[in-house]
Amino acid sequence: MNRRSFLKALGGLTGGLVVHRALGETALGSTLTGLPDATGASRYSKLGGSLVLVHSDLHNHSIMSGDAQGEPADALQQIRDRGIDVACLTEHAVSGKDHGQYTCANDHQQGGCRFVTGINGNDWQRMAEIANAGNDELALKGPDPFVVFRGFEYSTPTIGHINVWFSSEYTDPAHEGALATPRAASEMWRVFPPTKPIAEQFEKAPDTAQILPFYEWLASAPGSPVLGGGSDAVACFNHPGYFGNFQDFVFHGGAADYMVAIEAFNPINNDTDNPISNDADYFWYGSDRGLPNPFNACFNAGWRVGFTGVSDEHSGHFGQANKGRGGLWVPAVTRGGVRQALESRRTFATMEPALRLDAMANGVPMGSSMPATDSLTIQLDIARDAGWVGKEITVEVVGPGTNGPSLLSLQERVPVPADDQPPITFTIGRQGAAWMFLRIVDPDLPNHQRATAPFANGKAFAYASPWFFD
Ligand SMILES: [Zn+2]
Ligand SMILES: [Zn+2]
Repeated sequence: MNRRSFLKALGGLTGGLVVHRALGETALGSTLTGLPDATGASRYSKLGGSLVLVHSDLHNHSIMSGDAQGEPADALQQIRDRGIDVACLTEHAVSGKDHGQYTCANDHQQGGCRFVTGINGNDWQRMAEIANAGNDELALKGPDPFVVFRGFEYSTPTIGHINVWFSSEYTDPAHEGALATPRAASEMWRVFPPTKPIAEQFEKAPDTAQILPFYEWLASAPGSPVLGGGSDAVACFNHPGYFGNFQDFVFHGGAADYMVAIEAFNPINNDTDNPISNDADYFWYGSDRGLPNPFNACFNAGWRVGFTGVSDEHSGHFGQANKGRGGLWVPAVTRGGVRQALESRRTFATMEPALRLDAMANGVPMGSSMPATDSLTIQLDIARDAGWVGKEITVEVVGPGTNGPSLLSLQERVPVPADDQPPITFTIGRQGAAWMFLRIVDPDLPNHQRATAPFANGKAFAYASPWFFD
């Protein structure tokens, strides 16, 4: 037995203490950070294995987006300083592909045109340089590794926004048949609020935008004629419902391997007059307007994606504590390790800095596909700081439904275990569900303003990625 497998075996017996030392070789601190006056949770799962937990924020905008503030380098440093280990700036792609350089100002409020073009080819090149510099140089300014890579947000007016990470090429809605439609004018007010009364008159106008050409691009190899391709990427359904729900999540088998995530927490929430809402929980998005629950719709359509949380910051103040974050179980604290974690779907979304969450069903990690079986024993490893030991949480086991998700099981007011106590464990029936996920709720905080039974059990602060049953 070599040293690595010896430590791994021993770590499984001792709850990870020894694994700390093994992973000390990566120079990553053994606990999550980001809490102002407490030490965060250990990065090692009670459920075993050698993966390490990192926190991510894979959706942010700098001044390059045209509708946001903040210089890219400042953004990355702020994100890192606030306890996030993995970052991506995902500037808007709208119509700037093949456009060449242009001279309009960044800020649309000062007459800039950038918000209608988004990034162009020169920006795309610069974004790689920014990400590479952040990945290499910022890491030297702190004790821990920091992983940064390039991405863009495919930003349509009416059929949704998709983050694309790790691609060598980019595309945009103007080139994929998803930009200029009569109904697109109905969304203009989100950029220019004074135009809302005019924009509303276009709400019933025809919408000819298509999501399928984007999926064709995503499933094509880079360099493919005519528009290239993104099959070296992985991608995410952003703020589902807001700016569209991907044509009711129409499924595309060729893109399914590359679509790996869906945002559960994103603080941009246009339901209130306040454009930035602290209740970023997309479980309830659009329920007041008759939109289907986005997670139920997405998974029922056949997409097998994991959850993430993001800031989607536009304000120039990055990594704020009351916004969304992602948890990724990585095999290495590198770009390749992050990519593997996203592809594995062993991820979670949270609103809590320094939270650890891992879950297994019959020994299979969250985010996995697994054989259908009627009885499922769930193990939930959850921790934050010492102050959270004994704190009561409620676990909703959520499954599919016709007019919204169903509640498969409710574990009410379960105490968060101490480090030396076993994970939360319970057994449930699958009830024929094709998928299920854990929604973690604080029963002592008020419900979302639109919460209804059986999901009105407190405020959700984490989502564990689903299990999908074959
Ligand atoms: Zn967006
Ligand atoms: Zn965005």
